[in-house]
Amino acid sequence: MKYISTRGQAPELTFEEAMLTGLARDGGLYLPAEIPVMSQDEIAALAGLPYEEIAFRVMWPYVSGSFAEEEFKAIIARAYEAFGHDARAPLKQLNENHFLLELFHGPTLAFKDFAMQLIGQLFQVALKRRGDRVTIVGATSGDTGSAAIEAFRGLDAVDVFILFPHGRVSEVQRRQMTTPADSNVHALAVDGDFDDCQAALKDMFNDFDFRDGVKLAGVNSINFARVLAQIVYYFSAAVSLGAPHRKVSFTVPTGNFGDIFAGFLAKRMGLPIDRLVVATNQNDILHRCLSGEGYFKGDTIPSISPSMDIQVSSNFERALYYAYGEDGSAVSQLMDELKNGGFNVSQGTMEALRESFDSGRVSEDETLATIKHTQDHSAELVCPHTAVGIKVAEEHRATDVPMITLATAHPAKFPAAVEKASGEHPPLPSRMSDLYERPERVTRIANDLGALEDHIRRHIAE
Ligand SMILES: *Cc1c(COP(=O)(O)O)cnc(C)c1O
Repeated sequence: MKYISTRGQAPELTFEEAMLTGLARDGGLYLPAEIPVMSQDEIAALAGLPYEEIAFRVMWPYVSGSFAEEEFKAIIARAYEAFGHDARAPLKQLNENHFLLELFHGPTLAFKDFAMQLIGQLFQVALKRRGDRVTIVGATSGDTGSAAIEAFRGLDAVDVFILFPHGRVSEVQRRQMTTPADSNVHALAVDGDFDDCQAALKDMFNDFDFRDGVKLAGVNSINFARVLAQIVYYFSAAVSLGAPHRKVSFTVPTGNFGDIFAGFLAKRMGLPIDRLVVATNQNDILHRCLSGEGYFKGDTIPSISPSMDIQVSSNFERALYYAYGEDGSAVSQLMDELKNGGFNVSQGTMEALRESFDSGRVSEDETLATIKHTQDHSAELVCPHTAVGIKVAEEHRATDVPMITLATAHPAKFPAAVEKASGEHPPLPSRMSDLYERPERVTRIANDLGALEDHIRRHIAE
């Protein structure tokens, strides 16, 4: 499989090259040149298989050519062995026709472990084969950072630097980033918000001297390997509710649009997904856009679902690429307009987006009320991101199509909001109960490209 950029001006790469590169050199995001399609029989055959086997069958067409079959199977096995649940992504029923897909049984208690644990193993095998090393820099609104650190800690071919907005991540999220003792792990608290961190990361990738000098690699949700790993659980969940013989819908608590874009690819691969519902908190650029108001940046407002406190959703560019008929120059032009604040979406493009996506927005009070309601009516304590999803899902639920809401984090990752809403303190799973006692290691740093690049240059291993 060859990979192409959404802006049409970067060289075509193999899966391995696209994975190691992250952002394309024309500023775009990599996508497979063609989306592989699975037949209805192939999808039906997934029912009842172990998660790892489903993962292999769904992802293989995307990676073949870069990895050998047995090698890839071993990578998948290692990626998911540290999960605290044999089903990896278990489904739980909330009411008649509404299900929760629990994606928080990985080492850092959020869905990002699904992609990051896989990417860690993929990088290790690819770099070992090349005799090479890289510097991974990531920007996080909380969960990506800890997931990346858990995936790469202790690997000798990699230094990992994580930029997070100082004071804007939960204590559990921060401690998960600052307590790993491995010398290749570097947590950087940036004086700014998540969009500043993300912008600094983009600027580093566009500074080719720096990029080549430190062998920069990205594992943010712009990395196609991240998206790829997330396609798998759409399949595992849908087949356990009767696909391909029955349609299902998904509601996805959304920030950077990576998770829900994986659902879009699952649909294009042949999985009978009826609706893909984008659920946002008060940072609602995607909801406004899908409601026909154009894609215009606002200010990021801190919320109790901080992993979704985003104004620019990087992966939306991938959806726009398909909505604009795979026209790289049109996407390129929109992204130029975005630098000046935003753009309007043409009528035809809106129709293309609405073929797959619905959306809803949830206020802070509604999020708290949904945590309480879910506790009272379904005996589940859910995290605030998941609550945003549940609320929007209930608004979009149809009687004849099961709705699956993605439970993106464990409630113990956001104990303050959960306790405020429910009166119950969500305990950490026992395997990480000493998190609050471990010493922290973090560098506070200005939101300044020069300072960041200088710090990274001075701290990579030779
Ligand atoms: C990252 C994250 C999201 C948003 O996912 P995107 O892929 O960025 O849309 C939602 N919930 C939680 C808990 C997250 O960590």
